[in-house]
Amino acid sequence: MGSVPEEMALGFGDLVGDLREVYESGRTRDLEWRQSQLRGLVRLLEEKEEDIFDVLREDLGKHRGESFRDEVGFSFLCASNECFAFCLSNLGSPSVQSSNVTIYIPLCSGWGSEEVRRGQAAELQELGGTREGMFLLNTPAWRHSVSLLSWLSAHTPLVAFPATAFVVPEPLGVVLIFSCWNLPIGLVLEPLSGALAAGNAVVVKPSELAPSTSAFLAANLPKYLDPKAVKVVEGGADVGERLMEHRWDKVLFTGSSRVGRMIMTKAAKHLTPVALELGSKCPCIVDWLDSNRDSQVHHLCSSCSSVLRRQNDRNNASMIEMLKTTLKKFFTKPEYMSRILNEKHLKRLSDLLADRRVAASVVHGGHFNPKTLTIEPTLLLNPPLDSDIMTEEIFGPLLPIITVKKIEDSITFLKSKPKPLAIYAFTRNEKLKNRIIEETSSGSVTFNDAIVQYGLDSIPFGGVGHSGFGQYHGKYSFEMFSHKKAVLKRSFLIEFMFRYPPWDETKISM
Ligand code: NAD
Repeated sequence: MGSVPEEMALGFGDLVGDLREVYESGRTRDLEWRQSQLRGLVRLLEEKEEDIFDVLREDLGKHRGESFRDEVGFSFLCASNECFAFCLSNLGSPSVQSSNVTIYIPLCSGWGSEEVRRGQAAELQELGGTREGMFLLNTPAWRHSVSLLSWLSAHTPLVAFPATAFVVPEPLGVVLIFSCWNLPIGLVLEPLSGALAAGNAVVVKPSELAPSTSAFLAANLPKYLDPKAVKVVEGGADVGERLMEHRWDKVLFTGSSRVGRMIMTKAAKHLTPVALELGSKCPCIVDWLDSNRDSQVHHLCSSCSSVLRRQNDRNNASMIEMLKTTLKKFFTKPEYMSRILNEKHLKRLSDLLADRRVAASVVHGGHFNPKTLTIEPTLLLNPPLDSDIMTEEIFGPLLPIITVKKIEDSITFLKSKPKPLAIYAFTRNEKLKNRIIEETSSGSVTFNDAIVQYGLDSIPFGGVGHSGFGQYHGKYSFEMFSHKKAVLKRSFLIEFMFRYPPWDETKISM
């Protein structure tokens, strides 16, 4: 790959052209290739762990503990447990390797099994037929007619008889992944694993606001992955805009709603499908707080964008005290707290507190240090609902606590706001849990924990409404970068002439 300035002069036309050529050659569809890419990602995490800690500390002041938990550890969890390993085993089970038809492999081995109807072939053989549906040749038709018809109506409508229908996932082609600065490793590697498992050629555009991490990815991804099919393009908004001039087969964008809108507009020119993982709030309803359970308060401090609690709860006074104590316990050393990204973000956050009504609601913290780019974790009690801190994304260590009359009112409160990425709730009340699930809309709902849903690959991760659209993680990442091609295989055995002219009344009444 040429340097970014050279490529920029060419507007990235050559880069995209080269990748399209590689994709069209069929190289990335090959099962062995996909497995080798996923193994490369695993090796990268194993061999470069310390380097990753270093760049995350340089860019974001992240402690290695936090970096391990949120980025390396999460990716390792995926690797060793279900995500990358899932890719590997699902793409390469022995029964599947013996197949000649590699494109069927993800389907047959799990990642499409809902669509494939695994019982189908066996069921047909039992009836003395073949997968193609030519079972009537060997089967006394009347003996089996009832079961055949019920089987057919469940799988393929009578109009297509005799046939089988199924779904084959195919790679989309050449895809582009934009990531942002706050999780600059995880938000690249997780979608990248899905794009590679699905057999695509990929361009990764890391955030320029995490420059050391961006340089690390640019230097290392080509060493661990196929450099002809995976490219890293570094740079800022201008580079992103130029990339978006081209036709992609899919764009996954993680970042702000402002830029997400621009990405979608540019993608529309080429009818490029997009997935947007956008900025949002993650409110937490606190119905039950156990004063002996520190972990609950830990979650509030580290993962939620606001807390909703009920009036006259006997725990209300202790909740603030518990939060204060936990914050003190969390950050006994300055290096335990990530710094704010840059002066611009520090100013954005201090502006949120500049409103006098908001400043008056601060019950803990509120101090900024421009020299160290740090903000004391801050608790605010009932800031005005029309203030910027309640209407804008916060994305910093400021936690508003809002009091509602009854805890059920928090549902009405959430419904009056844009749909969040996640809703959390601490409660033992099953009725409340069901109401939250049924009556609110959000990317995810988690009870009695927070952020942990991000680490699960058994459920999809993504937003809804203002928090974006398109879901990934685990097999959902594979699906995000695949097209589910509908396939119908029909036999020449029987023709239903009533489907064609010349029309007559008898045929229509059949
Ligand atoms: P951003 O929108 O400024 O940038 C994201 C990416 O887009 C970067 O790679 C950037 O270089 C590129 N970009 C910027 N301007 C562009 C343009 N005009 N054209 C093309 N590309 C452009 O976001 P950020 O400040 O890096 O990230 C913070 C945001 O990301 C927050 O809003 C946060 O909530 C959100 N976020 C969302 C998720 C999620 O999964 N939903 C996860 C983490 C962060």
